[in-house]
Amino acid sequence: MRFDLLTIFPEFFAGPFDFGIIKRARQQGIVEIIIHDLRSFTFDKHHVVDDRPFGGGDGMVLKPEPIFHAVESILAEGSAEDPAGEVIVEQGRAEEKRAGVILLSPQGRLFNQSEARRFADEYSRMILICGRYEGVDERVAEHLITDEISIGDYVLTGGEIPAMALVDAVTRLLPNALGSETSALRDSFSTLACGLLDFPHYTRPAEFRGWRAPDVLISGHHGEVAKWRRRAALLKTLKMRPDLLEQAPLADEERRWLDELSREKC
Ligand code: SAM
Repeated sequence: MRFDLLTIFPEFFAGPFDFGIIKRARQQGIVEIIIHDLRSFTFDKHHVVDDRPFGGGDGMVLKPEPIFHAVESILAEGSAEDPAGEVIVEQGRAEEKRAGVILLSPQGRLFNQSEARRFADEYSRMILICGRYEGVDERVAEHLITDEISIGDYVLTGGEIPAMALVDAVTRLLPNALGSETSALRDSFSTLACGLLDFPHYTRPAEFRGWRAPDVLISGHHGEVAKWRRRAALLKTLKMRPDLLEQAPLADEERRWLDELSREKC
C-alpha cells in the first residue's frame, strides 16, 4: 500500500509514523508513506493555496487548482497508462486494485473498522487530502475524490490527525503488518469478534491494590477462559455500545441472556 498525504503542514507528520507497527511496516516495505506539501503544486510566486469564500463569511477555503494538480500528478507518477487503477501481482495471482482519493472532512462518511478493512482490501494506494481553515473548495468533493471520510462527529482544525488515524487503522490490517495475524482478526468490531467489542484484558500482577484479575483467566483452563471471554465481550458491548448488538450474529441463548440482563438493568 502506498499512502500519499497532501497537506499544507508537512512537518506535522514528523514522528507519528516512526514508531511501533507503522515504523516496522514501512521498514518491511508493507507500506510506503509519502508526505507532499500542497504549496509545491502551486504556480504563483507566493505559493497561495487558499482564498476567501465566495458569498462572504469568515475564514479561508483551500483552492481547487493545487489539489487537482497534486492528485493528478501523484496518480500519474504511479501508473502512466491507467492512473485510476493498476494490476498488482501478488503470490502469483493478478489482483485488480484501485487508487483511492480520500478527502478528510467532518461531513464525510463515518470511518470505522469495516471502512478500514475495505480500504485495505480494495486499494493499493491512497491519496489523502488534508483540509484546513473553513475546508476545501467543494469541487474537490464533487469531481476528484473516491471517498469523503470523517473520523467522528466533531470538528478538528485540520485533516492531518484524521489522516494519521486512517493510515494507522488501514496499515495494521495489511498482510504481515502485525506480528500475529490473528490479533487484527479478533479485535473489537472484527468479523471473528462478531462485530462486538473485544473482551477485557488483564496481566500480572494477579492482584493490584486489592483488585484481583478474574481467577478463571489465571486457571489455565482454556475452555473456561474462552467461555468467560465471550461472555465478558458481550457484557462490555452491552454496557458501552449496545447498538453493536443489534447486528451481531449471536446464538439464541446469548440473546436471551442479554435480554434478561437489560431487563434487570431497567
Ligand atoms: N467548515 C467545516 C465544517 O464545518 O464542516 C470544518 C472545516 S475544519 C475546521 C478544517 C479541516 O479539518 C477539514 O477540511 C477537514 O479536512 C479536517 N477535519 C476536521 N474535522 C474532521 C473530522 N471529524 N474528520 C475528518 N476531517 C476533519
